[in-house]
Parts: sequence; structure tokens; C-alpha cells
Amino acid sequence: MRIVDFHCDVLYKLLQDKELTFDGGNKPGVLDVTLERLKEGNVLLQTFAVFISPGRPDYYEAAPILESIDLFYEKVLCFPELRLIRTAADVDACILDGKIGALLSLEGVGGIRGKLSTLRLLQRLGVRAAGLTWNDANWAADGVMEARGGGLTAQGAAFVQECNRLGIIVDVSHLSERAFWDVAALSSRPIVASHSNARELCDHPRNLTDLQIRAIIESGGLIGITYVPPFVREKGDVSIDDVLRHIEHICALGGEKHLALGSDFDGIDRHVKGLAHPGQVLGLREALLKRYNDDIVRGILSSNAVTFLKGQLPVE
Ligand SMILES: [Zn+2]
Repeated sequence: MRIVDFHCDVLYKLLQDKELTFDGGNKPGVLDVTLERLKEGNVLLQTFAVFISPGRPDYYEAAPILESIDLFYEKVLCFPELRLIRTAADVDACILDGKIGALLSLEGVGGIRGKLSTLRLLQRLGVRAAGLTWNDANWAADGVMEARGGGLTAQGAAFVQECNRLGIIVDVSHLSERAFWDVAALSSRPIVASHSNARELCDHPRNLTDLQIRAIIESGGLIGITYVPPFVREKGDVSIDDVLRHIEHICALGGEKHLALGSDFDGIDRHVKGLAHPGQVLGLREALLKRYNDDIVRGILSSNAVTFLKGQLPVE
């Protein structure tokens, strides 16, 4: 059973420190996601998010987004073991030839500044998923930490419609509740929360209420269970068993076919015990196999995501 992971932030670390390499030539512990660990974890597909910190002076410029995408090509895709995922056929090719698929996403679109021409160019460069904002508010939408809790702007709505047209998956993980419902009402395609857990079990604004979980399921979308400790458990040490409780909760809501994984590796400074890098996801797989049958486990680890991607990615 191979693994699909819908979110990691290693491109952000590569952007911040130009000395870093993707093939493990760094000091130990600096990167969670490296080529070696993707191989160790038998990863079929890893999503690489472009994240630009709202604190950067160039946050509202396209330049740092383009620089991150350049790093993705120069430092990640340069390895022959990896293959850029642009189409449904690319996913099949990775399954057949054992390569690791690399899917490019945006975690916040501040630098696009409403320009749909820029979005279309980014799609041509390989972007296949986009979250409108991170925790902050930008021209498109309010994120979960914006106190006013606004929804989509008119420009944000136009952005969602263009994503639908281009075959760019809309990621709702960081949206305010109001923006989430705006996207759910507007999007003609299924919606994805790439890295969020269940609010019912862990009361954090980055997690999804049961109503939101049901809406994602009804849309035919995906929920990527995340290993961010404060989104897994409110207090104390966080274990793989705590992660499993979120999976169980979403299964109980009818989400068995809509569960996926969204580690947030390299976006976190603390890890779930035994879940510190892609190689250790094998431990999560073992824990799942003790509780669920092979079909359900394969669904959560990869096949739900593969089915979804093959239905949503451009044909060619
Ligand atoms: Zn995030």
C-alpha cells in the first residue's frame, strides 16, 4: 500500500534557506520531507504547497510564488524518482512505474492579487490545487484567524470559478467558516480540506465542524487528516491513537471514502509521537490495519485520493 499526502511545506523551507537540499544532505532534523524519506514511506504522491508568509514585504507580489515554483523544479523535480502530476494519466504512470508523483499547490494566493491571467499561467506551470488564503485575510477571502470572519470577496468568487474551469482543486483548509460556506455554495466541483481534523474532537478553528465535514462529503471531496499536534488533541502528548480518533469520527459521519492524509510536514515545529516524517507514516498504516480492513486502509492511505484526483485533474 502506497501513501498519498495532500500537504507539506518543504518548499517554504527551501525558499527560506537556499543552502538546503531535498536529498538529505542537510543537518539531521532540518527537513521532514526528503527524497529518501518519501522512498522509505513508499509514497505514491506528495503535494508540495507554495506558502508565502503574510509578514514578508513582497507577500502581495507574484515574485516569491514564482521563486518557490522555480525551487520546486530545480531542487525537487530534478530527481528522476519524481514526476510532476499535471494530469490523471500522470497519476496512473506513477502507479505503474513506481515513481513518486509531485503535485503543486498554493497555500494562499495573496501574490496573485485577483489577476486571473496570473492564475492561468501558474496552472500552466503545474499548479493543481489552491487555498485562497492562509490564516490571514487577503483580497480573496478571510482566513480562520481573521477576527471579523468575513467570507469570499467578489474577486475571490471569480477566482474560485476560474479554478473550477481550469481544473485547479479548491482547498478550504484555512478558510474562515463564512468563506468555507461561500466556497461550498459556489464551487461547481468537489471541495477539499487538505490538512484539517474534526472540531468535535479537538476544538481548534483550523478543524472542521461536523456540518462542514458533511458538506465536503456531499460535494464528493476529500479531508486530509493532519498530524499538527494542536489540531489532533488540545492538551498533552499526542499519539498516533489520537490521530485515529479523528479518522474514526469522520468514518462515523459517512466519510470513509472521503478520507485522505495531509501531514503538514515541514509546516510544524512539533510532531505527533512516532509521526515525524514520511518514513514514519508506515507506523500509522500499521495502526490502521489493526482496526480496519485492507480496503478501508488502502482508501485512507491512497485510493480515495487517487480516485478523486483522476476524476478532477485535467485529462491532458
Ligand atoms: Zn496550512
